[in-house]
Amino acid sequence: MNQEPITSLKGIGEKTGALFKRLGIETVEELLHAYPRAYDAYEPAIPVGQVQEGKLCTVCGQLLRTATVRRFQNMQVIVTVVKDLTGSLQLTWFNMPYLRSSLQMGRVLLFRGKVVKKGNRLSMEQPEIFTKEAYEQVMHSLQPIYGQTKGLGNKAIVKAVTQALSQRQMEREYLPERLRRKYQLAEYNFAVEHIHFPSNQQELLAARKRLVFDEFLFFLLAVRRLKEKRQDAGSIYKMEPAMEVKRLMGELPFKLTQAQEKVLGEIERDLGSGLVMNRLIQGDVGSGKTILAVLALLQAACHGYQGALMAPTEVLAKQHFESMEALFHAHGIKSKAVLVTGSMTAKEKRLAYERIAGHEVDIIVGTHALIQEKVIYDKLALVITDEQHRFGVGQREALGRKGMTGQEESRPHVLVMSATPIPRTLAIILYGDLDISILDEMPADRLPIKNCVVDTGYRDRAYRFIEKEAAAGRQAYVICPMVEESEMMEAENVLDYTKLLQKKLMPGIRVEYLHGKMKGREKNQIMERFASGEIQVLVSTTVVEVGVNVPNATVMMIENAERFGLAQLHQLRGRVGRGKHQSYCIMVDCSGEEDTRKRLEILNRSNDGFYIASEDLKLRGPGDIFGLRQSGEMEFKLADIFTDADVLKTVSEEVKEIIREDPMLEGEEYRALGERMEQYLGAGMERVNL
Ligand code: ADP
Ligand code: MG
Repeated sequence: MNQEPITSLKGIGEKTGALFKRLGIETVEELLHAYPRAYDAYEPAIPVGQVQEGKLCTVCGQLLRTATVRRFQNMQVIVTVVKDLTGSLQLTWFNMPYLRSSLQMGRVLLFRGKVVKKGNRLSMEQPEIFTKEAYEQVMHSLQPIYGQTKGLGNKAIVKAVTQALSQRQMEREYLPERLRRKYQLAEYNFAVEHIHFPSNQQELLAARKRLVFDEFLFFLLAVRRLKEKRQDAGSIYKMEPAMEVKRLMGELPFKLTQAQEKVLGEIERDLGSGLVMNRLIQGDVGSGKTILAVLALLQAACHGYQGALMAPTEVLAKQHFESMEALFHAHGIKSKAVLVTGSMTAKEKRLAYERIAGHEVDIIVGTHALIQEKVIYDKLALVITDEQHRFGVGQREALGRKGMTGQEESRPHVLVMSATPIPRTLAIILYGDLDISILDEMPADRLPIKNCVVDTGYRDRAYRFIEKEAAAGRQAYVICPMVEESEMMEAENVLDYTKLLQKKLMPGIRVEYLHGKMKGREKNQIMERFASGEIQVLVSTTVVEVGVNVPNATVMMIENAERFGLAQLHQLRGRVGRGKHQSYCIMVDCSGEEDTRKRLEILNRSNDGFYIASEDLKLRGPGDIFGLRQSGEMEFKLADIFTDADVLKTVSEEVKEIIREDPMLEGEEYRALGERMEQYLGAGMERVNL
């Protein structure tokens, strides 16, 4: 593996290196495994008369006149018209005056761009320009489109990947010949190269098939290894139900659902069994997982042990910490909790570490900061990860290992929580090392969320509706896919949208924004002010997707809903409908496309995560795998546990076979695989989400 820093590539200095870092790419190896998120296919040109509004089209024709440059506000706009036998079409470019010299009357060229409607005439905006020969060259090829950041566009990333591929050392094939032949899997080096630059669909599918197989293989081997280590391991942390826990349960402002009671029973049984607990709680958004975690943590605290709760985002960690403190305070519980997150100052952290090591605190809540070396626990008997699908298996394991003091019996109990709606058969494979508890019941006081899918013309009505809800004391989220304006993508962004809403909504309604690039402290402050009701409307990226709980919020408005996977939309929607008030989800579809509407209608019909995932799957044909992924499920880059469920099952069978034959992966056939596996586990430890 090439662990050279990305700056070792020609043309990438410190500045560009920092931009790559924002994309999570620091080494050449990471660059090679930052796969395209989509591919652009260059289709043959269509007659000018057949272009359609909202579509990306290519036309070939003659320029009716030499381009003219106009000034519009503070932009320079170039305009000209292309025609063929079937019609003519206006072409427009912004702030690219230098193009003018190549756009003379009479020239025959190809133009490729998105067609929009201005007034009642169609116009192609910012088209790429090709000569006939140049277009011949790219036609039918697939051009990679990478995740980008401001200042680092697609072209620059393509260039870096090209260089990295041409300089790389070929890797030794580690997959046994037998498996490659049986499943007709492409060779590893071929796969890595062609996932970036496939010359056709077939090559792309072959590359993807191999890499998906590998992703599942390593993941399942890792899970398997955990399972073996743990099976029937004895525990020194045996806990009988504590009085304090029973008392708190009785005093809660709500009655636990039957499903919660049942799962709590399972947890209590595990904790009292003398064996190490390894349990997954799977329950749809809003089913009430947090309180079970809190009761389990309290149980550990009451026995003089420590318990830790790890969440994937600072916002969520902080929220868990604060609601727990409030709950304990209200019920006179003396157990002490502490928060550990990355954005704390060095001094704050040091203080927290001291209190943890000295066992001045019983419950530790935080982000992956909890698995850092400096944190030393005292009698850590229980570790819980919330929203496990956002963590790698390696991170989960790392937290468990933190508590161990040498002997195997000191391994803490493990509780893992996830809202990913997957069928039991898949859960058993993906969480093969865990026992599974399912929360299949919603608290009784919930009203089903009312949904609608609308086009952009509905916005003003939505704003009026938000005003009405705010006047009634409620709050709203507005989700935009992007943080800031981008040249590459036409989508709503948080910064501009906030300004717009501040103008559009009645004075007195406080609108603020939240996004992942803000400093931890800022994020926390905004979230606190939203939770306390000081902010009425929160414009945010998907940072609020996981776990956030503000029961007073009743409106979730999602801009560019077409850009999100259904499972992700379902998670976002799960931020409302968490209290006793009627809640609403408004999905704004900016695509105007029939297929998109159909897809979004699924959400409109159901509030059941499980149903949504399976319907989404039905709608997607086999050629659709490069479309939207469900969301960042598990730690897979390419694999989608829903669309690739069959591969997952196959690999699971193979893993059983491999482990039976050669559990340590030491023999000739599996040695290379075993070595690769170690690297995978090592990398997983460092993986950091969000
Ligand atoms: P999730 O399963 O998505 O993590 P939470 O644990 O955050 O859901 O719970 C969502 C909301 O429901 C919280 O405000 C919580 O206090 C509340 N809640 C949990 N259990 C019940 C219950 N049995 N009855 C009523 N409200 C509940
Ligand atoms: Mg939760």
